[in-house]
Amino acid sequence: MLGVDRSASADEIKKAYRRLAKKYHPDLNPGDKAKVAEEKFKEASEAYEVLSDADKKSRYDQFGHAGVDPQAGGGYGGGFGGGFGGFDDIFSSFFGGGFGGGATRRNPNAPQRGRDLKYAVDLTFEQACFGCEIEINVNRSEKCDSCGGSGAEKGTSPTTCSVCHGTGQVTTVQRTAFGSFQSSRPCTSCGGTGKIITNPCKECRGEGSVRKTRKVKVKIPAGIDNDQMISLSGQGDSGKNGGPAGDLLVVTRVKRHKLFTRQGYDVMFDFPITFVEAALGAEVKVPTVDGEVSYNIPEGTQTGTVFRIKGKGIPRLHGNGARGDQYVKILVEIPKNLTEKQKDILRQFGDTVEPAKYKERKSFMDKVKEFLK
Ligand SMILES: [Zn+2]
Ligand SMILES: [Zn+2]
Repeated sequence: MLGVDRSASADEIKKAYRRLAKKYHPDLNPGDKAKVAEEKFKEASEAYEVLSDADKKSRYDQFGHAGVDPQAGGGYGGGFGGGFGGFDDIFSSFFGGGFGGGATRRNPNAPQRGRDLKYAVDLTFEQACFGCEIEINVNRSEKCDSCGGSGAEKGTSPTTCSVCHGTGQVTTVQRTAFGSFQSSRPCTSCGGTGKIITNPCKECRGEGSVRKTRKVKVKIPAGIDNDQMISLSGQGDSGKNGGPAGDLLVVTRVKRHKLFTRQGYDVMFDFPITFVEAALGAEVKVPTVDGEVSYNIPEGTQTGTVFRIKGKGIPRLHGNGARGDQYVKILVEIPKNLTEKQKDILRQFGDTVEPAKYKERKSFMDKVKEFLK
């Protein structure tokens, strides 16, 4: 679309877009009834949006159009705004200047990108782990269908402001004792737009855009974690004067799980077993994010021992099925409030165990003996 090849530099892309924008911008093509130029302008803007954003460009390079099309579900990525600032300086260079305003003044009719909208979504541990599709209500501005964004009632069109002659600026000369001063300020008659809408559109009251609440589907990729961002390109507020829409930025908030703690892509939790199980070994049922699995605790397992169950952790984000592990930390529980009979059995048991069977204790006692010698 921009007529640049894949290896084009940011500067070449910008130049190519500038050339096309100048050729096709709606304000510079007043006779464009069939909207050919307007369509071309939109396409060029879209292409520039992709190529001027380093992240999107690399996805485009890898995956082609699907890599940057939010409908294709590939819209995951971080970063606010990105390299999008380019629009302003491109347009100000051929719209803004020229009538004495200098570089600081912006043309009110220049295409403006819509705002990015940020929404937080609450996810359960499982939703974040395995991914899901959720729907959020997004309140955003959209181009008014009734007037096509012009703000003028159907069948009418805005007229050029007679006060500023369409420039949006009024220049006044003040004569004072010190000489005369020339100053310009935005035209109050037209609000600086250079246009007067005598017959405002009833739908949008002349704004050209209306606020709508839309249900937007958001694909949550498996493996996403707390406080990460999914950006849906072009789903934010509509742009002005033919500028592109902003993005919808969805920030994840993952709820704590009652059982599992997540560390990166690994899942961990403490697993209490009885001291008899610890001593004799046991086959136990261990919960994982996939459900229960059997695990053989070997005899003589100490408290604090950590077992790894491979591949039962969280799927890696865009990891093609690769997953983290689950770590099970054993807590050996000593029972309380034993009956006299139970205590008796334990005493008898205790008498039969040679000191050498308690390795840690024996090694410690030997050190103590050495120390006290
Ligand atoms: Zn309207
Ligand atoms: Zn005016």
